[in-house]
Amino acid sequence: MIKQERLVQEFMEMVKIDSLSKEEGSFAAYLKDKLTELGLEVLVDEQAGRRAGSDTGNLLGRLRATRQGVPVILFAAHMDTVALGKGIQPQLRDGVIYSSGDTILGSDDKAGIAAILEALRHIKEEKIAHGEIEVLFTISEEVGLLGSRYLDYSLLQAEMGFVLDSGGEPGTIICQAPAHERIKAVIHGQAAHAGMNPEKGISAIQAAAQAIVKMKLLRIDEETTANIGVIKGGEATNIVCERVELEGEARSLSEEKLCRQTRHMVACLQEACAEMGARLEVEVSREYPSLQVPEDEAVVKTARQAAEALGLEVKLTSSGGGSDTNYLSAHGLKAVNLGVGMSHAHTKDEFIKIKDLVMAAHYVAEIMQQVARRV
Ligand code: ZN
Ligand code: CA
Repeated sequence: MIKQERLVQEFMEMVKIDSLSKEEGSFAAYLKDKLTELGLEVLVDEQAGRRAGSDTGNLLGRLRATRQGVPVILFAAHMDTVALGKGIQPQLRDGVIYSSGDTILGSDDKAGIAAILEALRHIKEEKIAHGEIEVLFTISEEVGLLGSRYLDYSLLQAEMGFVLDSGGEPGTIICQAPAHERIKAVIHGQAAHAGMNPEKGISAIQAAAQAIVKMKLLRIDEETTANIGVIKGGEATNIVCERVELEGEARSLSEEKLCRQTRHMVACLQEACAEMGARLEVEVSREYPSLQVPEDEAVVKTARQAAEALGLEVKLTSSGGGSDTNYLSAHGLKAVNLGVGMSHAHTKDEFIKIKDLVMAAHYVAEIMQQVARRV
């Protein structure tokens, strides 16, 4: 049985273990024991830890099949939490778990981990037939999806992946998420005394302003967003500004539109700098690839059928942000991100309803059974 009390207690215990990004080591050790107790073979993807700069690697558990011929499936969640995640003291009030108000709660993503652990315990206790199940607990998701970015994909055999790392009630299925690029620019002008000989100067601030004013920004279309989020520069009012730094980003569900948007932003910078005689250094870097899983993919159908079997309202949707799902999917493992009910993640107001947490565990178990039943 999925046992509510056990699940809630384990969740509360886990959020009390600090696991900031790149400092997941003690939490990973705790989870390694849990998975081993549950009968999984566990290994640590150490090289990912080194590349991410974390004190541990990704954790990969494997539960051998009790029924043959069932496709291998993967469940994933991330071990790290965002900042303000130290010394979390969860509070339980009226069926809802909150933080104490000074920190986040950490249901992002320990709710996902708790749901996976409880579902594993349930199918073992009830001796429910299942295929091979992989469990992936990643590091450093919150600082650029580093765990899934650097994961040794040769370790995985799964044909379908279910990531438990989204808001929305269970039944929420994310099949689309944007690709994301960052733009960093430095504009080099020429300093001069603003009162004595300003004509000898080239204002980097003016060049930046000209560039930005021509940029299409914020909501570009249904699938695309863009922003200049940081601008730094200038020393004093009597100096023509010599140097300005800009940082921006663009995201789109469409790789083509993303490419067009970043090119547009770079072109605005280039034109303004050329016109003003300023020198431009610009760098575009890929943050993560897009997630695009068609609705007729087996992984989406499975997630949908399992939700329907539990009487959940199915919501196929897209996200404005990336998750480990993006990288899994980019490596050919068709994956979706599932709602576990985490609310106001990344803030001190974060909470999760016990009923959603419990349902998420039921949902994971139901997916395991749906896949096994088809054989
Ligand atoms: Zn998350
Ligand atoms: Ca998050």
